Formats: sequence, C-alpha cells, structure tokens
Amino acid sequence: MAFVDSHTHLYDMKKGYALPPDVFPVVVGYSHGSNQKTVEVARRGGYPFVLGIAPQTTIKEGISRIDEWVEFIRTSRPNAIGEVGLDYKWAQTQEHVDGEKRVFARMVALAREMDLPLVIHSRDNPNDNGLPKYAVEDILGMVGGMRFLMHFYSGTEEQALRIIGMGGLISMAHMRSKERRKVINSVPLDRLLVESDSPYIGRTPESVREAVGYIAEVKGLDAKMVEDATARNAMKFFGFRL
Ligand SMILES: [Zn+2]
Repeated sequence: MAFVDSHTHLYDMKKGYALPPDVFPVVVGYSHGSNQKTVEVARRGGYPFVLGIAPQTTIKEGISRIDEWVEFIRTSRPNAIGEVGLDYKWAQTQEHVDGEKRVFARMVALAREMDLPLVIHSRDNPNDNGLPKYAVEDILGMVGGMRFLMHFYSGTEEQALRIIGMGGLISMAHMRSKERRKVINSVPLDRLLVESDSPYIGRTPESVREAVGYIAEVKGLDAKMVEDATARNAMKFFGFRL
C-alpha cells in the first residue's frame, strides 16, 4: 500500500513539486477558486478529491455567489464535502458567526443530498469577546447521523471521545503536543487518519510519514501497521482503492 495523506492542498505546492510514489494524496479545496484547481489536479493525477466552502472563505469572499459555488461542487462529483465547518477564531462579529453557520448548514445539506461524508474544519475562539467559544460543540450539533472526519484535529481528548462516540473519524497532522498524545492514546486505530494539510501545516505531503511515526510511537505499534491502517481508513471513508 502507501501512505495516504487525507488532506492536502496539492495545487498550492511550489511549481515542479513531485509526489514520491509511496504517498497518495486526497486533494482538498476550501473556496470556489481552490475547488476548481482541486478538480483539475485530482483528475490529472487520478486522485480522490474533496470540495467545499470553508468558514474563512465565507468571511473573506461573502456568500453572494454561493448558489453557483454549490452547483460546481454538485456537478464535479467529489468524494466528500470539505473542507467545511466553523472557525470561531476567524469570526470577529456575531454576523461572521451567523454567516459561517448558514454556509456550514448548506454544506451539510449538500452532503446529505449527495450521500457524501464531511471533512470538517473546526477552530475555537481563543478570545474572551462575548462571541461563541466552542466551534466543535456547534458542529457536533449539526452533523448527527452523518459520516464525518475532523481534519487537522487539535481539540481535547474529551472532545475526541465524543466525536468517535458519534461515529466520527479523526485526522492527525505530524505536530506533537501533550494533548495530541492523549488523543492518539485514546482514539482506536480504526478511527485515525493522517494528513499534511500541506503546504500550510506540513510543507509537503511527505509529512504524513512523521504523523504515522508519531501514532506508532504513542500507541507502541509497528509503523508499517499504522501506515496500512490509516490508508485503509482513508480508502473506506473517501471511497477509493489503491
Ligand atoms: Zn486544509
């Protein structure tokens, strides 16, 4: 098999970048512009792909063209809807929060209609500004009964257990921390995926090797076993074969 990077913005990599043969990418968009590039790169390489309108996009670009954006996603037949969700760090006003929620609800409805899983971005509000704090709480209230993956997971162990209790999956990048260690320890291997979120978090998709190594180390497992398990989990979730 191969390492499966469950989340890369491959179209944003430096020109001339070539994937190594043992890393297989799932290409992910976050806006109409990046969704178009995602489809192009994924079709060229034969990769699975994920299309959606992310909460940050909602704030940066407004939502006046949302119908056109949704139509593009619908007709492009992605493997999942994402990245979508709620980002309460980006939201500076109640209007931003409401706009994010409206678009996320629309993305959830689209996923239901197309019978696709969701790739979710969630970020809590670190400030004490009277705005909602826990994006993950609101997200979990909106995705009941659906298949979903929490991308670039950075929440607590307790939240992770609630997520898997609802049938969700968790995708880990390569970064290390005390809380991440606890999360990896508590979440069973059949619920874990790895990702680079490259070029923004990991520089390239190869950083999933490190993420696999970290999981293997924390769980006391063979790295090859973790590589295969996370690849299988990704294939099942996104519906592709290697
Ligand atoms: Zn991303």
